[in-house]
Amino acid sequence: MIEESDTSRHFLRQWIEKDVAEGKTGGKVVTRFPPEPNGYIHIGHAKAVCVDFGMAALFGGECHLRLDDTNPAKESDEYAENIKKDINWLGFQWSGEGDGVEAGFYNASNMFEQMYSIAEELIRRGQAYCCNLGQEEWKEYRGVPDKPGRPSPSRDTSSERNLEIFRGMRAGKYADGEWCLRAKIDMASPNIHFRDPVLYRIRHVPHYHLGDKWCIYPMYDFAHPIEDALEGVTHSMCTLEFEVHRPLYDWVVDRMDEQNLLKVRNSVKIRPQQREFARLNLTHTVMSKRLLLQMVQEKVVDGWDDPRMPTVCGMRRRGYTPGAIREFCARVGVSKVESESDPALLEWCVREELNKTALRKMAVVDPVKVVIDNWQGGARNAVLPNNPLDEAAGTREVPFGGEIWIDRSDFMEEPDKKFFRMAPGREVRLRGACIFKCNDLVKDAEGNVVEIHGTWDEESWGGNAADGRKVKGTIHWVDCATGKKAEFRLYDRLFIESNPLKDGSDGFLKYLNPDSLKVVSGFVEPSLAEANPLERFQFERTGYFVCDEKLVFNRTCSLKDSYKP
Ligand code: ATP
Ligand code: MG
Repeated sequence: MIEESDTSRHFLRQWIEKDVAEGKTGGKVVTRFPPEPNGYIHIGHAKAVCVDFGMAALFGGECHLRLDDTNPAKESDEYAENIKKDINWLGFQWSGEGDGVEAGFYNASNMFEQMYSIAEELIRRGQAYCCNLGQEEWKEYRGVPDKPGRPSPSRDTSSERNLEIFRGMRAGKYADGEWCLRAKIDMASPNIHFRDPVLYRIRHVPHYHLGDKWCIYPMYDFAHPIEDALEGVTHSMCTLEFEVHRPLYDWVVDRMDEQNLLKVRNSVKIRPQQREFARLNLTHTVMSKRLLLQMVQEKVVDGWDDPRMPTVCGMRRRGYTPGAIREFCARVGVSKVESESDPALLEWCVREELNKTALRKMAVVDPVKVVIDNWQGGARNAVLPNNPLDEAAGTREVPFGGEIWIDRSDFMEEPDKKFFRMAPGREVRLRGACIFKCNDLVKDAEGNVVEIHGTWDEESWGGNAADGRKVKGTIHWVDCATGKKAEFRLYDRLFIESNPLKDGSDGFLKYLNPDSLKVVSGFVEPSLAEANPLERFQFERTGYFVCDEKLVFNRTCSLKDSYKP
């Protein structure tokens, strides 16, 4: 029995379970993730990756990585390589046969020859024809959902003539748009995708992978089921907008069956099937690759991997972990209902993981100097846990001398009732070091505090007063003599508006958050000079940060948030 509350047993899982039980898979569940290499993958793709690879893994099957490179205009090797890198980083590996070069890996463009011969066979069987209606006419003939369309004047051309034209299309005899190949299905279907859809169009554009080999390219609706069938995919999962295309998917699979092209596995003919789930949407961002590219090109952000981008590479540079992204996708779940997720849930997942794993360090992002006037302690080391939640992480020694940096926000000249940190005449604990009492302030001409002076209690080394008196506040610090100067990039959401596309995609940039990046400089404890890119830390009391380059740290997220999942 399937428990109602068990969201991980979603409808796609139940669907596959049933097919496995009925023996429809020939003993092996095969799925695929089919990105088009026309951009970097984002958090929405990450969800599809989790579903496609996750379902294959759950049933002990295989998930192919297929670059759906059927539209030459915007595709590139750079995108292809980075898609692979990002999927691996998310924790997944494609497997299965592959198209000869790499296990489990396919280029749709390597199937162009087979697609072409399937198309010729459709023509021979009277199931496809060449049409030369212009774009406008074509739309007009197609009609609207509640009114049948009209047949194209070329609908009944002979197979011989159609073959001649189609071969001419391939040979480059015609200009873009002059002819196309259409399936001969049903001009009266209530589903307009079924009204003699276009299968091939002419595009005199070189392909990033095949160069000038082709000037006709297959449409998604024709290419995708063929790719699935040729690869022996059993379960083809995609987003909801393809639901209305499913009859066409099945039509193409039926034609392949007629042409005896379906794979057979353990004597079972593999008929790929498509099912659709709701896409992942996030508030306060945009997810269309076109708009992400626009932001990159207009330099609104610092590339596809800008830590404010919803791309996988951006999230990596932000310090997010693959585990947290997977957990987020699992929590959002798989359903048929469109919804919007709050980026705060993603941050919550990140924080949950980093709280357990990130090494603790001290950093001061808005420094003000503190001078201990009676310091005679020399250079000492405070001993601090690397992670108080994980004893095995051990401890570290942090140098401490008579002058330190503290965060400006940890000092108030006139403290209010709830402020227990540093203030004139008050004692405060310097984390892991000693108790300090603030006595004097040095101010600049405008009256801003530029230096804080005071004394330490020698007997409090380690942090507690020998006489047991209570000191309420504890603050972090960085030693002036040994601390390293560092840059901090403080990120916030990229858009101030929950839905930046609320007035359409033209003006979305007006909703950019002007404060989405603040760059400040401060100091970090000396060990952080050794930190390497992508190492993540908790800067005590300050936030989670990830090293971007030597002594430059990107803020991943704050330590706490009121958000509760
Ligand atoms: P394009 O408009 O360029 O086609 P796309 O986001 O659909 O953009 P694809 O490369 O075609 O990009 O997507 C690969 C796979 O990822 C598809 O199966 C698609 O359904 C899935 N996918 C894309 N966006 C999301 C999303 N927001 N949530 C879940 N799955 C998604
Ligand atoms: Mg797509």
